Amino acid sequence: MEKIEHIGIAVKNISEANKVYEALLGNAPYKSEKVESEGVETSFFRSGESKIELLEATNPESPIAKFIEKRGEGIHHIAFAVDDIKSEMERLKKEGFILLNETPKKGADNKLVAFLHPKSANGVLVELCQEIKE
Ligand code: ZN
Repeated sequence: MEKIEHIGIAVKNISEANKVYEALLGNAPYKSEKVESEGVETSFFRSGESKIELLEATNPESPIAKFIEKRGEGIHHIAFAVDDIKSEMERLKKEGFILLNETPKKGADNKLVAFLHPKSANGVLVELCQEIKE
C-alpha cells in the first residue's frame, strides 16, 4: 500500500454535499462521474495529495443507498493506492482478508479497484485502487 488515495463519503444529495465540501476544502470538485455499474454518482475533491470522494446512490439497490439506510451519511470507505492491484489482492487473500470482488474492476477516476469486506478490517470497507496506465 502506498498511501491513502482517497476517503469515500456517502451522501444523500451530492449537489448539496458538493457545496459543503467546496466550502470546507476551499476548492471545487475537479471531477464528477457517474459509475452506473456501481449505482453511484461521484465527485472528487483534492486536499493536498489526498482526495475526498462523495458518493450518492443512483438507485435504491445501490450499495450507497443501503449504507445510508443502515448507518446514515458518513465515511463509507478508505481507499489505498497500490502499484499492482492483482499482486496486492493475492497478498491480502493469503493474509485472510475477504475480497468482495475476485478480479479488479473499473472504478471512478480512471482506476482499477477492489474492495475488502468490512468484517475483515474491523468494520472498515477498504478499497484498493490502481491508476490505469495506458
Ligand atoms: Zn472510492
